[in-house]
Amino acid sequence: MSSSSRQLTFGFRGDTALVTGAASGIGRATMQMLASAVPLRVIAVDQDPALSRVVSDLVADGHDVTPLCVDVADEASVLAAVNDVAPVGLAYVANCAGIHSEFSFDEIPIAEWRRVLDVNLLGAFNISRAAVRFMRETGCGAIVNVTSIEAERVVAILNPDATPHYAASKAALGMLTCSMAHALAADAIRVNGVAPGFVATPMTAATHAPSGLADAASARLLIKRYAEPVEVASAIAYLLSDGASFITGTTLHVDGGFLAT
Ligand code: NAD
Repeated sequence: MSSSSRQLTFGFRGDTALVTGAASGIGRATMQMLASAVPLRVIAVDQDPALSRVVSDLVADGHDVTPLCVDVADEASVLAAVNDVAPVGLAYVANCAGIHSEFSFDEIPIAEWRRVLDVNLLGAFNISRAAVRFMRETGCGAIVNVTSIEAERVVAILNPDATPHYAASKAALGMLTCSMAHALAADAIRVNGVAPGFVATPMTAATHAPSGLADAASARLLIKRYAEPVEVASAIAYLLSDGASFITGTTLHVDGGFLAT
């Protein structure tokens, strides 16, 4: 086949996707996109009980979504929950669950350091390892880990060193993404990262607007506004799809041009 006769393909060969952080923000937008636009069967994971309401709205609209209320940082609970739903045809995982907190280098309590690393890094690992057993049976698949521009650049807009623990968790997740791409290539499972910049979600709403950070951050971007969650979800969906069939072990920045400035 000549290159000019190739079809532009954004298909999904698998049947089922697992999305974490599905009760809110980027995870919720990703779950909605995969369940309605593709559509796939979706296993929606979050520790927030609000997940049931979010999922029942989608189910009422005829979409095939199963809620799993679980803490991604708890390996035993993750394994039990994923084994319990036994997701036949599982091919896609979007690790969106994450937490953020602001402490300076001198003031981070060790318990907070561990909590952020446990959710943002170990959580993605736990979910991926529980899912991969089923993905191998499916015979194809892709995983996307949601990292951050803070994995690559100190984002010192108003506060010079406010998130060393968060930045470390996301940088480590970026390297875990590369390691997983190596480990799972022989199983035809691609692994990539999506690194958002500033996104209008509950994570940022609580702190950015009142502190004036939202205006200062928007002014620094080439696209002078925060992303909507769906704009990150579409990048995640692309990397999961067959449209990204030759892409593995890399990170796509969805940052309105922040890293280009
Ligand atoms: P959000 O707070 O709106 O959603 C995060 C979701 O993760 C929530 O539903 C929460 O309940 C869930 N969650 C947290 N801890 C969990 C746990 N232990 N187990 C299961 N679920 C858990 O946040 P968001 O802005 O949508 O963030 C999604 C991801 O994007 C996070 O990994 C975040 O670090 C990353 N990110 C966000 C931004 C941004 O500007 N919002 C920028 C860069 C990266």
